[in-house]
Amino acid sequence: MYMQVIDIHAHIYRKVAGITKGQPMASTSLGRVTVGNRQVQFLPPSFEDSSSKTETLIAYMDWCGVDKALLMPNPYYGYHNAYIKESVEKYPQRLRGVALVDFLQGKDAARELADIYDEGVLFGFKIETDSTFQCASHKRMCDEEFKDIWDCCNQYRQPVFLHMFRDCDVEDLTVLADLYPQITFVICHMGADACFRPWVKKENFDHVLDLVKNHENMYIDTSSVPTFFGAEEYPFPSSIAVIEKAYAVVGPEKIMWASDYPGMLNHATFKELINLVVTGCKNIPDNHKELIMGKNAQRLFFK
Ligand SMILES: [Zn+2]
Repeated sequence: MYMQVIDIHAHIYRKVAGITKGQPMASTSLGRVTVGNRQVQFLPPSFEDSSSKTETLIAYMDWCGVDKALLMPNPYYGYHNAYIKESVEKYPQRLRGVALVDFLQGKDAARELADIYDEGVLFGFKIETDSTFQCASHKRMCDEEFKDIWDCCNQYRQPVFLHMFRDCDVEDLTVLADLYPQITFVICHMGADACFRPWVKKENFDHVLDLVKNHENMYIDTSSVPTFFGAEEYPFPSSIAVIEKAYAVVGPEKIMWASDYPGMLNHATFKELINLVVTGCKNIPDNHKELIMGKNAQRLFFK
């Protein structure tokens, strides 16, 4: 059966030039990057210059039957708005690009976003709270100094892609979802580090699912869920259980599949990431899988 597949979370960069735990990250070669002085295997060695190029993503998409993708930034990889913009302009039928600004700049970040939205190529914004607040860990998304950013997104009716790490992120999301009904909130990685790590409250996942279920403006994506369950390998039974649980609570209209390419290629092939839902989730009927794999994303981001 043919199923349109849209990936709402894929990363491209000419070079990793980011920051993690306060240390700079930089591409070296053979899929490795330096984190401070340490060298780590960040991607498979076949990513020879440790970059994630647009052409390589498009080739993976063609090879595995992925129709379209959202290019997702993250301070972890660095600031690549220019490369993302260039890629979207090169493949306008296949790609859309999410904006990244330095959230900590508050009012100035809001102004930069407004300029980006007026220009009309990139859209939305990504916030990953660990790398955003790593040098200001006492700050929170809802602090007064960041209000202009949320106001701007709300005014321009832009989506926000949110990767949470802390209990306070979940608390702030609860406030933001009610305060900003024109923002479409997409919860990356099924709630991610704020739901599946031992240092956060156990009830966070149920709370996040309730928020998604009860807010018209909230969605959740399936990317990188397998990384939260130790060394479990494909077909990732624990991840399937989490995705099927989310489906049972929020319904098929509120979930979107995503790959988190290329980092997830350390854990599975691209085809296996697709099959996590398509063949793995046996308790989701095909017409609902169509929504999760592409139709929801088509309606929200490619109309
Ligand atoms: Zn990602």
